[in-house]
Amino acid sequence: MNEKLIIVGGGFSGLFLGSLLRGNAIILEEHSRIGFPEHCAGIISPLTFKLLNIPSSLIESKFYYMNIHIGDSTITWSGEPLALKLDRVNLESYLLDRCLKNGVDVKFKTRVLDLNENGAVVTDRGLFRSGLVILAEGSKRTFSRKIGLVKHCKDIIGLQARLKCKVYTEAIHVFPCTYSENFFSWLIPIKEVGEAVVGVGGRRKSHLKMYLKGLIKNLERIKLIDQSKIIRLFGGIIIRGPVGKLSKGRILGIGDAVQMSKPISGGGLYPIAVASKLLADKLNLYLDNRLNWFEVLNKYETDIKSLIKSLKYSHILSEFLFKYNCKFLRKILEGMIKLNLSHDILGKIDYDEHFISLIRESLNLKYQLNMAGIMVLSLLKR
Ligand SMILES: Cc1cc2nc3c(=O)[nH]c(=O)nc-3n(C[C@H](O)[C@H](O)[C@H](O)COP(=O)(O)OP(=O)(O)OC[C@H]3O[C@@H](n4cnc5c(N)ncnc54)[C@H](O)[C@@H]3O)c2cc1C
Repeated sequence: MNEKLIIVGGGFSGLFLGSLLRGNAIILEEHSRIGFPEHCAGIISPLTFKLLNIPSSLIESKFYYMNIHIGDSTITWSGEPLALKLDRVNLESYLLDRCLKNGVDVKFKTRVLDLNENGAVVTDRGLFRSGLVILAEGSKRTFSRKIGLVKHCKDIIGLQARLKCKVYTEAIHVFPCTYSENFFSWLIPIKEVGEAVVGVGGRRKSHLKMYLKGLIKNLERIKLIDQSKIIRLFGGIIIRGPVGKLSKGRILGIGDAVQMSKPISGGGLYPIAVASKLLADKLNLYLDNRLNWFEVLNKYETDIKSLIKSLKYSHILSEFLFKYNCKFLRKILEGMIKLNLSHDILGKIDYDEHFISLIRESLNLKYQLNMAGIMVLSLLKR
């Protein structure tokens, strides 16, 4: 079968991109149901929500505060709101509807077995040939590794539990390198329905259930939740970069397939939303025969440069912060607590564009003085 455009993978990347197209494309998805297996917590900033242009009924909860726990102290990061929790399964169903309404065909139970740079896609339902292939296969990275788009990775395995429980907090709570290795553990309350999502991360899968048990016990001890009962467990690979090469021949990678996520939190929805919007403009011209596949790749790679640069720098920063089980991150946070600067420093940082806002703020003299104070304090403490 000859196709103008094939998207491999009907996860968030494939569906969001598909929902922005004007038909004449097909999405190949190996599963029979959209949104499953579940893996994501669905936390985004209001900025990403605007980019997605989706109904507010897909918001499960809004958060004005995030409490970051360092030992017995807490730093509060606030916003108006700071972050939103999306219903990830319903988000993907909504995006699927948008794809179908636009005339984008979605073929379920169609597993891609192989593909090549000339646009040949072998599936368990036959061979497709396509002028351009968008690789949105997610964190498995079978083909992005095979064709050399990604080489190195610093993956974390995330395990989450949806709990039925009493909830005594309205803030998201984050515990850097506690009940997690070189990552953080988290509590996302969904007070409206008396539920919460808790999660842990690490490199060794065998330790995660133990971490999760410890986290839940601790959350009950410090009275953030109570009487918890696990409704379901879910999770997957949390991508922390570095972002890979974007294309090879007629194949263009997007999302987790090319490690396009914020390295500090592992959040992929923001960069995928930005990338999809930039790409969809070009793809619609390609589908109308106003650009060829090569021009699409060139124009997209030019427009996405600043996002890729910020993901790359953010990756270097996260390597530093999380090294030696968060040693440097802890020192910076402890310094902020000592100098009472957490509001001044975190108040200006956007949840999803944290690296860009950090750089913007670092040009400000007061910010530089605050950071210098924290650095001196952490050096004196050594
Ligand atoms: C525990 C955890 C928590 C997270 N929390 C957040 C969060 O709060 N906020 C945030 O922004 N991000 C979060 N993320 C990251 C976010 O979920 C991902 O970045 C995002 O889902 C990536 O979307 P994707 O479409 O690239 O990949 P996926 O969603 O994995 O989709 C890939 C799709 O490709 C299909 N596929 C794969 N191989 C084939 C094949 N050979 N043939 C056909 N189909 C195939 C799969 O079935 C799947 O449907 C989290 C991730 C994890 C693991």
